[in-house]
Amino acid sequence: MTPGAPKSPDTTGARAANKISHWLEPLGEGRFPIDVDHLALTAHTMYRRDDPITRVHGADWKDIDGCLARNPANSKEWWLSYKKAASPERQRFTKAHELGHYVLHSQLQTEFRCGSAVIVEKDTGEENIEAQANQFASYLLMPANHVRQEIESGEITFDLVSEMAKFYGVSFEAMCIRVVEITDQPAVLVYWDNGMMRRWSRSRPARLQRLRLEAPPNGPLEPFPDTLAANSSVRQCAEGALVPANRWFKNAPPGEMLREMKHTSDALERVLSLLIIPKFEPRWARDGEESVSDTFDRFIESGQYPTR
Ligand SMILES: [Zn+2]
Repeated sequence: MTPGAPKSPDTTGARAANKISHWLEPLGEGRFPIDVDHLALTAHTMYRRDDPITRVHGADWKDIDGCLARNPANSKEWWLSYKKAASPERQRFTKAHELGHYVLHSQLQTEFRCGSAVIVEKDTGEENIEAQANQFASYLLMPANHVRQEIESGEITFDLVSEMAKFYGVSFEAMCIRVVEITDQPAVLVYWDNGMMRRWSRSRPARLQRLRLEAPPNGPLEPFPDTLAANSSVRQCAEGALVPANRWFKNAPPGEMLREMKHTSDALERVLSLLIIPKFEPRWARDGEESVSDTFDRFIESGQYPTR
């Protein structure tokens, strides 16, 4: 596994994970879901390091999800631990996150204790070490080129996302986030917790389209009228239904329709809305209006809502 091994540590989660993905590619489709335990126990050989991870084990924690720490009896070794009570998908993501700390940050600290909030928080990859470790995990478990092939071959539906989540051994939510990151279609993912918008993310093409969510200036951010998200009699809609785009986005031209999917989680009071949007010119561009920042972006900037 050593040919091409880097001499210095990678600086971002994405780059480091892409490098490992490249090494694993010759193993073909059988490499999924990625065996993170094995990777963790052999990572020191890939990086020619003398401080191996020597133990990967489950722990009975309530307050944290994962930990990477020096072996108390031998400071040359690392131990990787994860919350035993978590689902196998969550365990895999946590282990990959801790492996990210080993690859990227082991010079900085001797112990990393990581909580659940980091799993879905914004992962620009530059902001902090938690975001970098998340990005590493996401890219390692769901490599972009592989995911792209899956979603280019047909229509994106929640059924497809669910199949892919099983294939990669990740949670449905983690898979949704990755699909939206990678797709070349304008797509927006919205999280509702207890009927209130918690966060949203959008694909790059959706960002370029500068769509503004139909959000009131001071919240509360409840599902917009006449959308699937607002229809309490529909709990699941995996294929999606056509909805006028301006029900969601105030600057969408009249007559444009988007496809709205809905997933209601049984375990949590959480609803995910996935919107696949046609490529149209937003009204501000068409009418020569000056582009203004997105209303919801401003909510996020002002710190009212956690960013994804
Ligand atoms: Zn962490």
